[in-house]
Amino acid sequence: MLAVILPALAGAQANNAASHLLTTWMGMLPIIIAASHGGRQKIPGVPVRSGTGVSQFITERDSNTAELAETLASKVGDRLGARPFLVLAHFERKYVDANRPAAAAYDSAAAKPYYDAYHRALAEASERIRLQWGSGLLLDIHGQGAVADTIFRGTNNGKSVAALRQRFALKPSADLKVSWRRCR
Ligand SMILES: [Zn+2]
Repeated sequence: MLAVILPALAGAQANNAASHLLTTWMGMLPIIIAASHGGRQKIPGVPVRSGTGVSQFITERDSNTAELAETLASKVGDRLGARPFLVLAHFERKYVDANRPAAAAYDSAAAKPYYDAYHRALAEASERIRLQWGSGLLLDIHGQGAVADTIFRGTNNGKSVAALRQRFALKPSADLKVSWRRCR
């Protein structure tokens, strides 16, 4: 009996520890603001990623994106009179890269609960929006150092905003210093 209970308790403790390295807000608008690469915290017992066999291997933080995402969420809440959903990872990218498929995101089983907790929070927010509003907007905040004073709108050369572009007939605009880029 004990052998059955102990793994369950260990799993619950891991989930609890993982949730402490996230900030999540329940939203009242069909908007999710997320930041996976702004974290500054070490994950106890989880080794730094080695990158073996991983393409696009990066361990560098997207500086200040967690702070930017939270400020943006607050401002959106003030402006619209209701809070958006917020999902922030506080763990450092060198331990878990939440913006990668699981196989490329971490090296050890001890990291899995942290990766899963981030994606579970995003999935729960998406599901609530789907049920209540049908569809919504995900603003996934990243950093870039390629071009100064420029905001790239969309990733994977515009693939991630294809529906938005179609719906609002958006085009890349040099005037607005907004462009379509591949996120690294
Ligand atoms: Zn990023």
